[in-house]
Amino acid sequence: MNNGASLDGQVALVTGASRGIGRATAASLAGAGAAVAINYLASGEAAAEMARALVQDGARAIPVQADVADPDQVGAMIRRVEEELGPVSILINNAGVTRDGLLARMSAEDFDAVIAASLRGAFLCSKAVSRQMMKARSGVIINVSSVIGRRGNAGQVNYASAKAGLIGLTKSMARELGPRGVRVNAVAPGYVETDMTAAFPEEMKEQIRKNTPLGRLAAPNEVAEVIAFLASPAAGYITGAVIPIDGGLGI
Ligand code: NAP
Repeated sequence: MNNGASLDGQVALVTGASRGIGRATAASLAGAGAAVAINYLASGEAAAEMARALVQDGARAIPVQADVADPDQVGAMIRRVEEELGPVSILINNAGVTRDGLLARMSAEDFDAVIAASLRGAFLCSKAVSRQMMKARSGVIINVSSVIGRRGNAGQVNYASAKAGLIGLTKSMARELGPRGVRVNAVAPGYVETDMTAAFPEEMKEQIRKNTPLGRLAAPNEVAEVIAFLASPAAGYITGAVIPIDGGLGI
């Protein structure tokens, strides 16, 4: 989607933007005029290269390292973004990991790790920007949930819990922050061609295609462009929504 310069003057922080959906989202937001902070955990070179490419295209962009599950690191990250780009007006809580396994065999560590990166990370980042957004009486928060959070999935009790939790977080924050001019929404992608799904065996991908009315996985930019729309003034009356981007998989 071409949002033109609809995000001119905005400062976006995209968590987990070194790869996949986050990377595509940072590019879409920058393309619409926002200054973009590209958060990453370990892929420093990829994030730096991404920032350089956006700057070359005329955007303002910086890479920012932080484990979103760590409150001190999140605090330091937000301060750095404020100093270098300005107060965060768009937050995309995208960082996430998978540690799949059947319930009976899943370790508590694997349960906690998935909840931490996705749900705790979104809570901490949202909390860190919320005061300033409420004071400004404007701001947008978008959480990247999943069709799995809506439907559940065998072998993913940790991931489904984190992604369902994000839906609760989204709706609660929408109620709490709406009166202060801050919109909060979620997207629920189906399967997207990223590193997260690259390791799936071909038979599994075939099964996914079969179960998906549109008959294919999504490209990362197909999620990014919906996120950019939700962040834009064109979505000014949308809050508390969970938008499926799943080719019909979740029908
Ligand atoms: P991906 O390619 O595996 O990338 C994950 C990103 O998250 C990376 O940038 C990674 O940083 C970052 N990250 C992980 N843990 C982090 C932490 N603790 N702190 C900061 N950053 C962290 O994933 P993706 O497929 O693009 O998925 C992005 C989001 O969409 C996830 O929340 C995922 O659950 C959700 N989603 C994906 C699909 C799909 O089919 N791919 C479907 C529905 C929803 P490093 O590069 O530094 O490790």
